[in-house]
Amino acid sequence: MRKNIVAGNWKMHKTQKETVALLEEIIAKKPNTSTEIIVAPTFVNLSKAVEITNGNGITVAAQNMHQAEGGAFTGEIAASMLTDIGVNTVILGHSERRAYFHETDALLASKVNTALKHEMRVIFCFGEELKDRQQNNHFNIVEYQLRDGLFHLEKKDWANIVLAYEPVWAIGTGETASPEQAQEMHKFIRRLVEKVYGFDIADNLTILYGGSVKPDNAKEIFSKPDVDGGLIGGAALKANDFLAIVNGF
Ligand code: PEP
Repeated sequence: MRKNIVAGNWKMHKTQKETVALLEEIIAKKPNTSTEIIVAPTFVNLSKAVEITNGNGITVAAQNMHQAEGGAFTGEIAASMLTDIGVNTVILGHSERRAYFHETDALLASKVNTALKHEMRVIFCFGEELKDRQQNNHFNIVEYQLRDGLFHLEKKDWANIVLAYEPVWAIGTGETASPEQAQEMHKFIRRLVEKVYGFDIADNLTILYGGSVKPDNAKEIFSKPDVDGGLIGGAALKANDFLAIVNGF
């Protein structure tokens, strides 16, 4: 049985004080659920988040990391620095990293390799832009992103991969893929993974949807058979909204 996950990407939001307040509220109101809850605060607040969530059934993830083991890379963070403070999950390939920091699929493949070498779990984000969908090219784009970013992996590596399909046109725009559009793409992705790696890996793979998921649309999106949860941006910044989404299962 694959795992359901709801992950909050806090992006460049929340001071340390605000991080503590939000986490304490999430912990206090958290439902008893088998859905894994992940939060991804900024780097400077990761240690504090690990300390606060310890023993409370919430996983802390990083929003990015560098592919090198260490060295002269001013401003960057290595995998070993994350695992050292108890962060074992990392989001890679978010569309904002791809767009504003020019992260390519080749670079992401190398980040994935480094993360897996450090026994981290990767939430790998990908998805088409609006023009791709308008040109009916969205399946091709997604296929290339997966082939170039992940399909060099060995079968055993997939135990530590979570996919997050995030159509760029739906991120932070208030525009959501319809539950049918999400299901259509998730099914395509699972079939693609099955073709390359076989049924068991595809069937056990958690595929999240991201893009303007809110309390009022989460339930319908999560009801689709190939949607195993969500990667949440804006709505993850308020405990009540985030937990209402968690309750969407
Ligand atoms: C995201 O940034 O991953 C995201 C899905 O954002 P939002 O929920 O705000 O669209």
